[in-house]
Order: sequence, then structure tokens, then C-alpha cells
Amino acid sequence: MGSTGSVGTQALQIIEEQTDYFQVEVLTAFENSKLLIEQALRYKPNVVVIGNDKFYQEVFDALDPHDIQVYAGEKAIEQVVEMDTIDMVLMAIVGFNALKPLLRALEYKKPIALANKESLVVAGQIISEKALQYGTQIIPVDSEHSAIFQTLMGELNNPIHKIVLTASGGPFLNYSADKLKNVSVKQALNHPNWKMGDKVSIDSATMMNKGFEAIAAKWLFDLKQEQIEVVIHPQSIVHSFVYFADASVKAQLSLPDMHIPIQFALTYPNRLKNNLKQLDLLKTRRLEFAEIDTKIFTNLALAFEAMKTGGNTPCVLNASNEFAVKAFLSGRIGFVEINKVVEQSLNSMSVIQNPSLDELFQTDFETRKKAEEIINKLSN
Ligand code: MG
Repeated sequence: MGSTGSVGTQALQIIEEQTDYFQVEVLTAFENSKLLIEQALRYKPNVVVIGNDKFYQEVFDALDPHDIQVYAGEKAIEQVVEMDTIDMVLMAIVGFNALKPLLRALEYKKPIALANKESLVVAGQIISEKALQYGTQIIPVDSEHSAIFQTLMGELNNPIHKIVLTASGGPFLNYSADKLKNVSVKQALNHPNWKMGDKVSIDSATMMNKGFEAIAAKWLFDLKQEQIEVVIHPQSIVHSFVYFADASVKAQLSLPDMHIPIQFALTYPNRLKNNLKQLDLLKTRRLEFAEIDTKIFTNLALAFEAMKTGGNTPCVLNASNEFAVKAFLSGRIGFVEINKVVEQSLNSMSVIQNPSLDELFQTDFETRKKAEEIINKLSN
């Protein structure tokens, strides 16, 4: 799901190298019809879904002669996960749109390699309950969560003291609050260590990404907020730490390459040989760690605050951030204004504890409206 995005395209490269192991059954994309067609012709799925139905005819005309079924619309993206022929779903749709198909896949007991974190931020409780109810496994793809997941293998009943998520610091590590005011979209997209999609690259630059990862970790690993910490690690070699009750600490290390956690999520619990570069400790030499200044990267503080408040607050956090990042990417607001939109949205929305799915969708809708108002005021 989301095959034309950054994780989707990298997953297809992995699949191409491991043809004995994988067969692509379904590909979905929201509107990148050109790449979706190209991928379908190359990987020969049985079914393709394009989210935006304005591209249906184009995709149908290209793929129907090749015996590939084509569907369109967001409902179809949701329904396609029900297919009996699917053994596993890689959920690589970006943003809130992943939530409905994810819930459907859980209900249909399809093991999920989960690259989307926004769904866990918004509806972590509902997702965890559903996964438990249907006994469906979620295997995280995000490098930090993959690290924790790998570290916890074989530790079933051992109590966790805390986890420490590592953050590269993004392109603006060590920038002053003043210097941040003038950064461009291009600078913000230019992550020093990781090759990622636009949305997550901006989230990394603002540190919101780490806040989302903290909230997602809470649900993925059943942790309390006090058990989750974040530390700057500019080399991106250690992908996270788990501290156990006996004062022992485990971590997972590798060169920063998303192919590694994507492949592991797809082949879990097996590790398949590949051609990726091994870590060379003598070349790396130095692993550094530092504290994050949350007075400059206020988004991280906002995310922890939203996690503490709970209820529909993380939904407000996510929706206002998604909206503000789009506004930044299209040049409507500056980089530091992303924080302002999120903060003002959080202050203006009312808290609902234990929200239903409908209430979350309502919150998402209202927050985007609110964020639009705030952006209009800021840009005037
Ligand atoms: Mg990450």
C-alpha cells in the first residue's frame, strides 16, 4: 500500500532481489499514476488500485491488456486488503489516510509491516486493541521501532525499564532559533543521513517525526510515557536502545539505510542475505549522543505534551502538523510557523477522552479547518 512512495519503491527493490521469497499481489498508490503503471508492468501484480479516481482510465488502459485488474477510489484501497491471496500487507501510505486500510487489514488478520506512524499517533489505542482482538501481528518498519522490535526478540516476559529513541537531529541540528526562521524548503528536505519522502523529511527537520515515533512506540511496545526518551545521535548508526530492569542495555546498529528495516519487516523472523553494505566500526569510529533543545525544537515538547493529555489530542497534533507541513512545502508559511500552527491548533481544540473512530475523524476534519484559519492569519 503506497507503492510509489519512498518506502514503497525501496520495498519493491528488495522484492526484486528476493524473487524466491516474494510475489507482489497488489499495488496501490494515491495519484502517482505514471509510476504505478511502470511498477505494475515490472512486478506483475494481479490487482492495482489508484486512490484518486481521476486517474482510473489512464491506469486501466495501460494495465488491462496485461491482465491486471484495476480499481479506483479510497474505498477500493480499503477493501483490497481483504483478498485471500495476500499473506502480508506493507502499509507505506503516508499520513492519516493509512488508518482505514490499516484497520481493515487488522480485521482480516493480515500480518502488517507498518511504515506509517501517523495512524498509531492518531488511533494507537484502537489499533492496539484491534491487533489484540484479531491476533494480527504488526511489525514496525520505521528504523527506530524496528530496532526496538529486534532488540526485544527473545525478551518476551522481561520487564523494560525504558527505551531511548535516537534522533539524527536532521538538517538543522545546532541551528539557533533565529537561524531557523530563514531556512528554505530545499534545505529542510535535505536530510543528512536518511533518504525519505517529503513529509517525513520535513517532520525530521522539525523533530515532529521523533515526537510521532515516541507516541507510536508507546502503543507498539505497550510503554508508559515516562519510559520513553529521545537523544540526539548525529551518526544514525544506533537506531535505538532498550534498557532492561536488570540495568542491561541492548541496541540495534547498522548503517543508515531503510532497506535494512524494510527487508526485516518483510522477512521476519528470518534474516535474508542481501548485498547491503556492512557497518565498518573502524571507519565510523565515533558514536556521539547529545540532549535535544526542546526550546528550539518545540514540536518535540508539543508531541510529548499531546501524548500525556491523550484522547483526541494526538489526532489534533497530527492533523495540524500534516496541514502545516503541506502549507510549508507549498510556500504558504515559513519553517518555524509549522510549530506555531500546531501549537495554536492544540490550544484551540477541546479534548475528548477515549474518542471513538468517528470522533477521531471529526477531530481530524475540524483541526484541518482550524489550521487553515491559523495559516490564513499568519500569512496575512
Ligand atoms: Mg524513524
